[in-house]
Amino acid sequence: MILKGFEALKSFLEKPRNIVVIGHRNPDGDAMGSTLALKHYFDKKGHHTTVVVPNEYPEFLHWLPGSDTTYRFDWQNTQSQRAINGSDIIFLLDFNALHRVGHDMQKTLEKYPNDFAMIDHHQQPDDVKYMYSDVTICSTCQMVYQFIEMNNDLDLIDADIATCLYTGIMTDTGSFRFRSTTSTTHRIIADLIDKGAENDKIHNNVYDANSYNRLLLLGQALSNLQILPTYKTAYITLTTEEKKRFDFQKGDTEGIVNYALSLKGIIFAAIFIEDAEQGIVKMSFRSKGSFSVNQFSRNHFNGGGHDNAAGGKSDLSIEKTVTKFVTLLPQYQKELEASYED
Ligand code: 5GP
Ligand code: MN
Repeated sequence: MILKGFEALKSFLEKPRNIVVIGHRNPDGDAMGSTLALKHYFDKKGHHTTVVVPNEYPEFLHWLPGSDTTYRFDWQNTQSQRAINGSDIIFLLDFNALHRVGHDMQKTLEKYPNDFAMIDHHQQPDDVKYMYSDVTICSTCQMVYQFIEMNNDLDLIDADIATCLYTGIMTDTGSFRFRSTTSTTHRIIADLIDKGAENDKIHNNVYDANSYNRLLLLGQALSNLQILPTYKTAYITLTTEEKKRFDFQKGDTEGIVNYALSLKGIIFAAIFIEDAEQGIVKMSFRSKGSFSVNQFSRNHFNGGGHDNAAGGKSDLSIEKTVTKFVTLLPQYQKELEASYED
C-alpha cells in the first residue's frame, strides 16, 4: 500500500476547491462508481466537483446518481477543458498511468499546472504528488470508501454515494466472487446497504439490462470460442462485421471473456475484439491462480491491469493477433500448468 501526502492533501482540502475527478478511458462500473461517489462526497464537503470522463460509458451505467452531470472529454471537449483548466486539483481514479485516458486527454493532462491525486488499485502506478494506491484491494470504490473513512466522514455517505460505491465493488469483484473480495469488502457492502444502497435494484440495473441484440452477440461470441486444452486456455474473437450484425453498443462485450474462463479446467481466457474506429484489436485477459495476465499483457500486448484481469491492444489484424497469442502459449506452458484453482 502506498499512502503519500495524505495529511498535506487533507490541509489542501480544508478550503473549498474546484476539483476535477477523472476515470480511465472506456469506463467500467468501478471507474464510474468511484468518480461519481467522490464527486458527491466532495460536493457535500463544500467543494465544486466535476467528473470528466474520457469517452462514453455503457448505457447500463447511465442510471448512476450524478451521471447526468458528467462531461465526456471527446464530445464535450469545451466543457471538459474549461473544467480542467479551472480546477485546483485533479483526482485520478481507477487507473495508474496518464496514457490510460487516451491520447488527446493525456496531452491535456500533461500540460496541467496543478497537482494530481491518485486513488487506484492497479499495479505499477505512476508517481504523482498525492497517492493512495493498494493493489490488494478489490476495487477503487472500496478505496474511496476507505478514503472517506480515513477522513472520519463515514457519516457523510448517503444513498447516492452508497449506490455508486456498491456498484463499483459489485462489478470489479464479479459480484463478490473474486479472491480480492474479503470480509472487509463484505462489511463495507453491509454498511453501504445500511446507508441506502438498494442491492437488488443495482444488480438489476447493471446485469438485467440486456438488449436482444446483445444476447445474440454473446451467442456469436460463444460460437467463436476456441479451446486449447494443452495450455488450459480458451479464447473468443469478435470481428467488426459481427459487431455490426448485432448492432453493437458500447458495453455489449463487457463480461463475455468470463464465459471462456467458466469452462472447467480453463485457467487462462482471452477475448479479441476488432475496434475499427481506433484501428486496433482490443483484448481482455483473465486468469485463475498464479498466472499473471498483467505481466503477460505488459510483455506482449502493450497493456496491463491486475494479476487475474488485464487488458491490452494490438495494431495487427485480428487473425495475426490471435496467431501471435497462440504462438506465445508454449513458452508459458509450465506456468499455465502450475496455475490452478481449487
Ligand atoms: P478489461 O479487460 O475489463 O477491459 O480490463 C481489465 C483490467 O485491465 C482493468 O482493471 C483495466 O483497467 C485494465 N486494462 C484494460 N485494458 C488495459 C490497457 O490497455 N492497458 C492497461 N495498462 N490496463 C488495461
Ligand atoms: Mn477497478
